[in-house]
Amino acid sequence: PFERGPATGPTAAGPVRIHRRGVCLVISAPSGAGKSTIANALRASEPELVHSVSVTTRSPRPGEVEGVHYLFRSLDEFGAMAEAGELLEHATVFGRGYGTPRAPVEACLAAGRDMVFDIDWQGYRQIRSALPEDVVGLFVLPPSIAVLEQRLRSRASDDPAEIGRRMAAARDEISHWNEFDHVIINAELDRSIREARAVLQAARLGTRRQHGLAGFVQGFG
Ligand code: 5GP
Repeated sequence: PFERGPATGPTAAGPVRIHRRGVCLVISAPSGAGKSTIANALRASEPELVHSVSVTTRSPRPGEVEGVHYLFRSLDEFGAMAEAGELLEHATVFGRGYGTPRAPVEACLAAGRDMVFDIDWQGYRQIRSALPEDVVGLFVLPPSIAVLEQRLRSRASDDPAEIGRRMAAARDEISHWNEFDHVIINAELDRSIREARAVLQAARLGTRRQHGLAGFVQGFG
């Protein structure tokens, strides 16, 4: 069922196909920590990485494109998707519904493609319990709470009341940092991107992901 992965190796019994199941890299952070920038840089340097496009009930911000940044849906449509089991996880963030469509995740993992998820800690908990073998959690911390607030203020798209709500939410999000497998302090962007790539590379090498490798090693005699 898997198309991709390392090349085959010859054994006495003939070639052995090694296929690697895809990795789910979940990146969570308080709003303003630089998570989207890191995720975008990862995708730019790893063109095969699939970004999970979430469903949300919030309205698009300027420049946001349906199907690229989010699937923008009404509350009723969102509720119907959740009800029908079409969402792998879903949560309320800043009073809006957010969720991960299930079908693309299942298809990607089976095809050995890696995915990156920009979701909150509630989503991480759910997706980790749904796919315990496939999920790697990475948390991004800001270098300080002052830097975080400054970054939020410089975002023209959010009004002051929204910034206040997001600062409170940021502290709440940060309180979950140690539920994740890895943590990055995003003080210097280039370094953070290198660190995120290292986390992804290490996850790809997980022994349990390498289906068929036992047969390959057996061929070593
Ligand atoms: P924003 O509205 O700024 O794009 O995202 C707000 C928050 O919702 C971010 O913390 C983001 O990680 C989270 N979020 C986005 N998509 C999902 C999702 O599908 N599920 C969950 N649980 N959180 C999400």
